[in-house]
Amino acid sequence: MRLLSVIVPCYNEEENVRDFYDELMKTEKFFCQKDVDFEIIYIDDGSKDGTVAEVRKLHEFDKRVHLVSFSRNFGKEAGIYAGLQHAKGDFVVMMDADLQDPPALLPEMYSYLESGEYDSVATRRVDRKGEPPIRSFFARQFYSLINKMSKADIVDGARDYRLMSRKFVDSILSMGEYNRFSKGIFGWVGFRTKWLEFENVERKKGETKWSFWKLFLYAIDGIIAFTTAPLAFASILGCLFCFLACVLILAIIVRTLVLGDPTSGWPSMVCIISLISGVQLFCMGIIGQYLSKTYLEVKRRPIYLVGEEF
Ligand code: UDP
Ligand code: MG
Repeated sequence: MRLLSVIVPCYNEEENVRDFYDELMKTEKFFCQKDVDFEIIYIDDGSKDGTVAEVRKLHEFDKRVHLVSFSRNFGKEAGIYAGLQHAKGDFVVMMDADLQDPPALLPEMYSYLESGEYDSVATRRVDRKGEPPIRSFFARQFYSLINKMSKADIVDGARDYRLMSRKFVDSILSMGEYNRFSKGIFGWVGFRTKWLEFENVERKKGETKWSFWKLFLYAIDGIIAFTTAPLAFASILGCLFCFLACVLILAIIVRTLVLGDPTSGWPSMVCIISLISGVQLFCMGIIGQYLSKTYLEVKRRPIYLVGEEF
């Protein structure tokens, strides 16, 4: 008998805990035939609603349901990591509680992994139906930017919905970094991945936990975590401005020699000073971002703290 661990990060998902379980159980028959047993681990990311109580109810009813409850909200990335650490399965799948990752796809995903041909089966949504257009626009820009800058293959529309072999999970766990960006980590570890596509499913109950601002900061985290290209960009910008300054100095010397020194040029001076100081601050900001991440990394703080588990 083989074990499939289902990891479900939850943050204020009381309405979805039960629905998710019911939906997942529709695939039970298939897995029974394959001699695969379930282990369902809900990761409660410091929910303030009745999520924990809902999971407890499920646990009373089905002992294959487990809970890892954080001492506070640590973010979905911490939830993913905790889930992978607690999973005992030969296969592990990551799924959102809001049913945006359809469990109906699981049998197909499993058949790819079972053949031994692949180490992970990932999913991507082919459209962004139901999402605010401005959010989709920025998301697309982000993916094209990060793929130009980074070697890690980060697929547009990729979900965290992924079925992984034990080998794949262990390599993810070996990356113990504090600033986690799973979409990048999944791509970084490599192995053979099969991609499945599906049409976007809208969240049925509750609302998204990601505001535009939260997503924006997450995108910056992703860039900082997977490429140092912005640092090179800052250096190149610095060189360009030095070159520009040399040309301007020469031009001014020549102009002064030819035309004398008419005392004008304050407005242009102010413009140049503000432009250059802006660029300098921008570049210092880039360095600051990397420094702050390094600072958090060297502190070696735990990625999450568990309040309760069963
Ligand atoms: N989530 C979490 N911690 C957070 C935010 C979200 O564990 O701080 C979980 C959430 O409960 C859900 C999944 O991550 O199961 C995806 O979140 P959501 O559906 O809000 O994101 P979206 O699908 O809108 O990108
Ligand atoms: Mg969702």
